[in-house]
Amino acid sequence: MSTNRTFTMIKPDAVANGHIGSIINDITHAGFKIIALKYTKLSAEKAGEFYAIHKARPFYHDLVSFMSSGPIVAAILEKENAIEEFRKLIGATNPAEAAEGTIRQKYAKSIDANAIHGSDSDENAQIEGDFFFTADERF
Ligand code: ATP
Ligand code: MG
Repeated sequence: MSTNRTFTMIKPDAVANGHIGSIINDITHAGFKIIALKYTKLSAEKAGEFYAIHKARPFYHDLVSFMSSGPIVAAILEKENAIEEFRKLIGATNPAEAAEGTIRQKYAKSIDANAIHGSDSDENAQIEGDFFFTADERF
């Protein structure tokens, strides 16, 4: 069953480059409702936990070190068919392959510093949202 919710993070590169406002603008203009929102920073340990699914990949260490290198913005978003719609809005993992007008095409510079995260399934959206937000932080 679809929950119509997804989880996102504006990654350290996009925060450092001053894109928080533009990205939130794109997200709300695309029809997503903000359910929860937080400006925070991941420790290396927490980033490792969040991306544990990629532990065996060659880029895991760089990914964890990048994701803990500076502040991020975490959010839970709601829209019909949220997972798929949001993946469409952010574009391909590699910004060089991301479609025109997508968030990664507009704000990301490389496959490792790719501006934004979007959950890949309802199950992971639930897990990732729970990682950052308690029940009384959602509206
Ligand atoms: P995210 O989970 O961050 O939304 P994604 O679902 O598009 O991204 P994943 O396959 O889940 O892509 O990879 C997680 C992250 O790991 C990517 O966003 C990217 O920053 C990094 N990554 C993925 N593939 C590579 C690669 N080949 N080289 C370097 N970094 C990579
Ligand atoms: Mg992913």
